[in-house]
Amino acid sequence: MKVTEHIKNANGKALFSFEILPPLKGQNIQCIFNTIEPLMEFNPPFIDVTYHREEYEYKEVRDGLLEKKVVRKRPGTVGICSAIQNKFQVDAVPHILCGGFTKEDTENFLIDLDFLGIDNVVALRGDAVKSEMYFKPEKNGHKYASELVSQINDLNNGIYLDEDLENSHRTNFSVGVAAYPEKHMEAPNFETDLNFLKHKIDCGADYIVTQMFFDNSKFFDFVERCRTAGITVPIIPGLKPLATKNQLNLIPHRFHVDLPDDLVIETIKAKDNAAVKQLGIEWCINQSKKLIAAGFPVVHYYSMSKSDSIKAIAQEVF
Ligand code: FAD
Repeated sequence: MKVTEHIKNANGKALFSFEILPPLKGQNIQCIFNTIEPLMEFNPPFIDVTYHREEYEYKEVRDGLLEKKVVRKRPGTVGICSAIQNKFQVDAVPHILCGGFTKEDTENFLIDLDFLGIDNVVALRGDAVKSEMYFKPEKNGHKYASELVSQINDLNNGIYLDEDLENSHRTNFSVGVAAYPEKHMEAPNFETDLNFLKHKIDCGADYIVTQMFFDNSKFFDFVERCRTAGITVPIIPGLKPLATKNQLNLIPHRFHVDLPDDLVIETIKAKDNAAVKQLGIEWCINQSKKLIAAGFPVVHYYSMSKSDSIKAIAQEVF
C-alpha cells in the first residue's frame, strides 16, 4: 500500500515509522531483522531503507603510488526492502538517488522494484561523493531530485525511455521527497529552497519527509511557509534521538541543523553517554507528543539501525 494511503486509512491516528541503513558489507540480513523485530509491536505501516552510493578510496600499492578504488560499503537496499516485505508484511520504502545513476539505471532499478511489489520510493539527489566538493550527476543522469521524480511519474504513466515501446505497463509508485526545515545546506536562501521543494511536488511527488530537527518551532514555521507557498501534500517530520556527547558537533556538521540551547546545556552537563542517551530519548518523546498533538500524521525516526532508543520513545508515544 502507498504511504499516502496508509495516512488516509489511519483516520487521524498518528503512525510510527522509521528508517534503517543497509548493514556494512560483510554482515548478513539478520542484523536488519534484529533492528526491526523489537519495533514491530508499534505497527509501523512502512519502513524506509536508505541507499548508499559508491565512495572512492585510495590504497597505497607501492612506493607511495596510490590506486583509486571504487567501493560500496552499504549495498543491498533493494534486497533488504524485499526481505522486509516478505518477513514482516510491512511496506518497505527504498530510497533512490540521482547520484551514481544514469536514467537507464534508474529505469531498471524501478522495474526491479515494481516486479518485487514495492510501490513506494523516496526520490533524492544524494550528496557529492565524499572526496568531491560538489554533486556531479552521471552523464545522462539527473542533476536534481525533481528530475528523478518526473522520471518516476513518467513510468507511472507508462512512459519509458525507449519511445518505441507500445502499451507499456504503468508502474504505481508513491513518491516521497526530502525537505529541510532549516534549509538545505547548498541553497542560497530559504525561499529558493522552498520554491525548488514546490517544484518537486509539482513534478509528481506525493509527500514530504523532513531532515531531522530538534526544535519543533522551526518545523512548525517551515510547515506554515510550505502551506503558504501552496504545498498541500502530507509533511512527515523526521526525528533523531541524541545518543552521544560527540553528536553535539557531529550532527550540525553532518546535517546542517542547530541544536537548541537547553538541549546543548543539558548534554554538556550529562555525566556520560548513557545519561545523554536518556536525555535524547526524553527530548524526542517531548517533540513527538507535541507533533502528534499538532495533528501530524506520522512521526518518522532516524534509527541509524539501532532500535533501543526508538523503542523507548515509541513505548511512551504510540
Ligand atoms: P534536491 O531536491 O535536488 O535539492 C538539492 C539542492 O539543489 C537544494 O539546495 C535545492 O534548493 C537545490 N535545487 C533543487 N532544484 C534545483 C534547480 N532546479 N535549480 C537549482 N537548484 C535546485 N542521501 C543518501 O545518499 N541516501 C539516502 O538514502 C538519503 N536519504 C535521505 C532521506 C531524507 C528524509 C533526507 C532529508 C535526506 C536524505 N539523504 C540521503 C540526503 C540527501 O541526498 C542530501 O541532503 C542531498 O544533498 C539533497 O537531496 P535532495 O533530494 O533534497 O536534493
